[in-house]
Amino acid sequence: MPAVSPKKPYRVGRSRTGLGLFATKPIKKGAKIVRYFGPLLDSRNKKHDAIENKYLFELNGRWTIDGSGRENIARYINHACKPNAESDVSPRKRKVVIRAIKNIEPGEEINYDYGTDYFKAYLKPIGCKCSACEKKRKKQRAEARAERLRLKAKAEKKALKKAEKQAAKAKESLKEKSQSKKKLKLNAAKGNGKLLNGHGRKSAASKSLAAKSGTPAEPREKQGRERRASA
Ligand SMILES: [Zn+2]
Repeated sequence: MPAVSPKKPYRVGRSRTGLGLFATKPIKKGAKIVRYFGPLLDSRNKKHDAIENKYLFELNGRWTIDGSGRENIARYINHACKPNAESDVSPRKRKVVIRAIKNIEPGEEINYDYGTDYFKAYLKPIGCKCSACEKKRKKQRAEARAERLRLKAKAEKKALKKAEKQAAKAKESLKEKSQSKKKLKLNAAKGNGKLLNGHGRKSAASKSLAAKSGTPAEPREKQGRERRASA
């Protein structure tokens, strides 16, 4: 952990995403906190232009500060979408100062907005971890959870209604069945005589046939009964 003079109103400490800069004393809105400094890179210089790291601070089309040096304490300041500080850039002086845009209390992490280019290149692909974005994500998760619960309750209610409807339908059809069974029984009772008559007629015919052919009547009648049963 890089040491910072105790006279300064900040220290380097652990943050959500690694290291961060934290206020140790109250910092008034508008106050300069720390300078962002390092070697100046000229985009017209091929060697300079080839340098690539996460701490390049572009001043304008030509000049960029390479803030990757450890003595550049401002490099420990993390990005936030709703920050309490800003980068105050003077391209002509080729100077960047981090300034408070709110009153900052001791213990608070100091943040500034890194800008859309950095955000798109480094933060969007992994998801911004600043407190505003975390809060937003937490809210979205809670909303999604509530929506899932709402849908589940709705589905359960629907299933219950369906089951109740089916049960009522089953009861109704059972009632109808038992009623029609009664009717059938009644009809069967009425039709019994006819059925018997038919049977009687047939067996009588086979008996007479048996008599004609001269074979015993008993097996013939049995055959006939079996045939009817299987039909
Ligand atoms: Zn964010």
